[in-house]
Amino acid sequence: MEVHRRLCRTYECPIGYFHDLDPVSELISSLLSHRTRNADSGRAFKALRARFPDWSAMIEAETGEVEALIHGVRWPELKAPRLQEVLRALRDRQDGALTLDFLAAMEVEAARRWLEALPGVGPKTSAAVLSFSVLRMPALPVNSHHHRVAQRLALIGPKVDVGPSHPILRAQLPEDWSAQALYDNHEILMLHGQKICHFRRPACDRCPLTDLCPSAFTL
Ligand code: SF4
Repeated sequence: MEVHRRLCRTYECPIGYFHDLDPVSELISSLLSHRTRNADSGRAFKALRARFPDWSAMIEAETGEVEALIHGVRWPELKAPRLQEVLRALRDRQDGALTLDFLAAMEVEAARRWLEALPGVGPKTSAAVLSFSVLRMPALPVNSHHHRVAQRLALIGPKVDVGPSHPILRAQLPEDWSAQALYDNHEILMLHGQKICHFRRPACDRCPLTDLCPSAFTL
């Protein structure tokens, strides 16, 4: 909580939401972004949007065409068939409807389980769909920056991977926190990883957390 308080002051919470997408579009965007720079996944997302009038049209497209449209992301040859597979599974589970709007009526944990039953959807993607889309549900995503900073602060153990870190980090925050508060928590830890607690040579001399951090000035 002290980490949250200090970083919120540094990065000026509340942080504005960076997306305003419906949840199916957010699912596509999130799957594209895996291990890919935001600018590249954003470009790929826009290319898909421009080419297909709706996501059901992408299911029927040649996989090679989808792959060409998303060539700027990492592993386009794996992501193209996966995107189609996810959309197909979603459509089949919903008797032909391609929507995730019904998740708004579910508890967060139940909604996450529903999403994680789709092929290739893990905790990071399920939380991103619930938090970043217009659903604006209280879920905590953890990306690689967030994970690295949490590990250096010993909020999670050194061997805890990104997936299993989700419930651990969520349990450290108040149960009744709003969607905005959880989004802020994710964003400020991510921003801290991008701006100060870099992968190589973290700038501990500019960090407001040195007295709380067991890794300070050791890396
Ligand atoms: S003190 Fe250094 S290692 Fe710890 S969070 Fe700050 S920048 Fe990262």
